[in-house]
Amino acid sequence: MNANAQPSPPLVVEGIGKQFRRGQTVITALNEVDLTAKSGEFIVIMGASGSGKSTLLHAIAGLTDVDEGKVLVNGQDLALLGDVPLTRFRGKQIGLVFQAFNLIPSLTAEDNIRLPAAASSSLAGRVEQLLQRLNLLDRRLHRPGALSGGEQQRVAIARALVCDPAILLADEPTGSLDYDAGQQICQLLYELSKEQGRTIVAVTHEPNVAMWADRVVVMQDGKNIAEFAPDGSRNPQEVAMQYQSLLRHGVGAGS
Ligand code: ADP
Ligand code: MG
Repeated sequence: MNANAQPSPPLVVEGIGKQFRRGQTVITALNEVDLTAKSGEFIVIMGASGSGKSTLLHAIAGLTDVDEGKVLVNGQDLALLGDVPLTRFRGKQIGLVFQAFNLIPSLTAEDNIRLPAAASSSLAGRVEQLLQRLNLLDRRLHRPGALSGGEQQRVAIARALVCDPAILLADEPTGSLDYDAGQQICQLLYELSKEQGRTIVAVTHEPNVAMWADRVVVMQDGKNIAEFAPDGSRNPQEVAMQYQSLLRHGVGAGS
């Protein structure tokens, strides 16, 4: 590496492929997918059900190993890490948010957020900052069962950020929320990407989520076929039209 080398991008995905075998059938879930994310970029991966969005997110998180290509997070090739170092690396560098929140029901909001940082006293102050920033101070002692869906997802986001990860990954983060709560979560993700320079990759099939992105990556049949930048007007119809116009017509469809 020479003296003028740029720091590694937070995320580089290079030509990854993934097949699943079900009996005699081989399913290509990912097919030569490339993606590079910059610091502070909010990327939304948009595609129909079965297009490979979750598999891509799991590959980026090192939760699924890939058959071809590689994933680099902050310059680290995930495939070069053994199981234990990979788990440790993920804990520090990759925040994960899921549709179903995945909070621990017996712990308060505050203790859920603290859990990943429990071993690190230097991160204790972050819990306080996150409770404040995510507007959870008056909910800190509630257990997940006493929180609304939007509040639970805010706790899950705070938990994902407590170790100050290089990237935050979110799989259908609004999928269990009503429209308004979902929009608040999208706005929050957008703002966090800008305030903290946090790199965020979210997957969705919904235009009203994708409209918050800096960049929308369109997935179809396991391949990132196109991308576009929404114009910032937060217009879901516009985003839906752009998305539809970029989808390839299936073989034999139409013509
Ligand atoms: P999406 O999140 O876009 O709905 P997925 O990444 O979950 O899509 O799935 C992509 C394709 O891979 C689908 O055809 C799905 O059935 C298949 N798939 C995903 N996970 C598995 C698995 N563990 N075993 C077999 N097939 C899988
Ligand atoms: Mg999925």
